[in-house]
Amino acid sequence: MSKVLIIGAGGVGSVVAHKCAMNSQVFSEIMLASRTKSKCDKIAAEIKEMHGVEIKTAQVDADIVAETVILIKQFQPKMLINVALPYQDLTLMEACLATGIHYLDTANYEPKDVAKFEYSWQWAYQERFKQAGLMALLGCGFDPGVTQVFTAYANKHHFDEMHYLDIIDCNAGDHGKAFATNFNPEINIREITQPGRYWENGEWVEIPAMSIHKPIDYPGIGPKESYVLYHEELESLVKHFPTLKRARFWMTFGQAYITHLNVLENVGMTSIKPINFKGVEIVPLEFLKALLPAPDTLGENYSGQTSIGCQIKGIQNGEEKTYYVWNNCDHAETYREVRGQAVSYTTGVPAMIGAMLMLTNEDWMKPGVWNCEQLNPDPFMEKLNEHGLPWQERVNVELPHEYPN
Ligand code: NDP
Repeated sequence: MSKVLIIGAGGVGSVVAHKCAMNSQVFSEIMLASRTKSKCDKIAAEIKEMHGVEIKTAQVDADIVAETVILIKQFQPKMLINVALPYQDLTLMEACLATGIHYLDTANYEPKDVAKFEYSWQWAYQERFKQAGLMALLGCGFDPGVTQVFTAYANKHHFDEMHYLDIIDCNAGDHGKAFATNFNPEINIREITQPGRYWENGEWVEIPAMSIHKPIDYPGIGPKESYVLYHEELESLVKHFPTLKRARFWMTFGQAYITHLNVLENVGMTSIKPINFKGVEIVPLEFLKALLPAPDTLGENYSGQTSIGCQIKGIQNGEEKTYYVWNNCDHAETYREVRGQAVSYTTGVPAMIGAMLMLTNEDWMKPGVWNCEQLNPDPFMEKLNEHGLPWQERVNVELPHEYPN
């Protein structure tokens, strides 16, 4: 029985709040706080109607440590789930340290003025969390998050040495909009317009954005053009599994999405450099975000599935082995359950599971700052099956990749 404070009331925050409310034997009291309180109130009313659970709401600017500290002192939660934006990671970690509570997020810290994805800023908190006897669990969504649990599970049960890892992420859903992003547009577009990067033979190989692609056949979906991107979990995975000779991340994009993105990029709308417009300083990407549909509004007429998994090649007992583990998630089903689309759902459910394990499972409560692959994958894999993200696996199937000798 623990009190939990959820910060951020967007697509993901809404799913986390619903799922915590549906598990009130662990999350006995819930507060949802965000910059715009009316969004929290709307979600609270939905939760009351759908699950009969009352949650508290509050307004907070999570960029200001002192504001979050006051809120934590008033509500006195055991932990904080950060599903606001990556910009708030460090201020929220500071607030947790100042008040002695545990921390979890779903995306690594990014400074607002440079699109830079790396764990260094958050890993630097390791000693402070350890000394305080507090835990910070980083990147506990689906990717990052479950993809690392999948990899740790493969490493524990299927391989003596993993050599090649391909994380493959497909969204074959249709929301009926000409152009929209499935999670926060600003964060999503910053990620996709960066040069691609993958790990090979002990170093990062940088490639022009979206320059490596091929169709990958996703179970229950079929072949979809998939593009190599840099994704943040690669950094911690190659650190924690040093036998990996190559690690890549693939994501599907439809042609219409790419065409829109190219045009927006070519005219400067994806830039994060401020410009002066009629005497006001604006960031083009922030302005674009204001025009695009919010991720939490896409769910209602969304059809189709997501499919995210890990394809791994390595050796076990001296023999070559391949392993594929994945989850498919249906947009319409998640909307029925928690009024959210599958991208928010596949992020919010693992965040709830991570928090649940930190509060109830001693393997998942370790002072310090951790990535998901550093903890015992077995209880997490069990909880995925119980809480709406069942996974499947195949052993020794042909994988769609070329493997150097
Ligand atoms: P949204 O844009 O829908 O929601 C973000 C929420 O955070 C909004 O409610 C926003 O408030 C709030 N917020 C922003 N700044 C502040 C602030 N300073 N103080 C308080 N609240 C603030 O984003 P999503 O729900 O789609 O994404 C949430 C997080 O999940 C992001 O960090 C994203 O990167 C991550 N994510 C992780 C994935 C994974 O698999 N690991 C996949 C998808 C997303 P307001 O409404 O006022 O703007």
